[in-house]
Amino acid sequence: MEQTGACRFCGQTQVTGMMTGAEERDSKVTLNCDCPEGHEFRREERMKEKIQNANEQINALFGQEMMNHHIEPLQNQRFIAIMKELAEAAIRSQIRKATIEDEETGTKGYISVNSKGGVNIERGNTFKYKREI
Ligand SMILES: [Zn+2]
Repeated sequence: MEQTGACRFCGQTQVTGMMTGAEERDSKVTLNCDCPEGHEFRREERMKEKIQNANEQINALFGQEMMNHHIEPLQNQRFIAIMKELAEAAIRSQIRKATIEDEETGTKGYISVNSKGGVNIERGNTFKYKREI
C-alpha cells in the first residue's frame, strides 16, 4: 500500500514512499508542496539557516576563535548582539549596510549586502599607523 502525507498548510496529499510516522510523512509533503504557504515556509526556513550561519560567523569573528590570529576576543557582548541583529536585518532585506564601533577598543563591525545579495560580515579597527615628520 502506498503511503501518503498531507501538507500542513493546504492539506494536499502526496505519495511519500515508505516512511515511519504520519508526522514524518506530513513534514516531507509540507516541504515539497507547491502552495503559497509552502513556499513561504521554505523561504523562512532558508532565512533561519542563513541567520544561524551569520550568528556563527559573528561569534567566530569577534569571539575566542580570533585568538588563533592573535586578535583579542571582543568583551562587549552588547556589540556582538547588535551585530547579530543587524545581520538578520540584512538577510531579511531590511537594511543594506551598517557600521558600529566599540566604545572601548575602537573595534568596528560592518554588515553589508553585496551586489549578488550575499551578506558580508567584517571586523576592523580604527587604529591607523601613521607617522608625521
Ligand atoms: Zn500545501
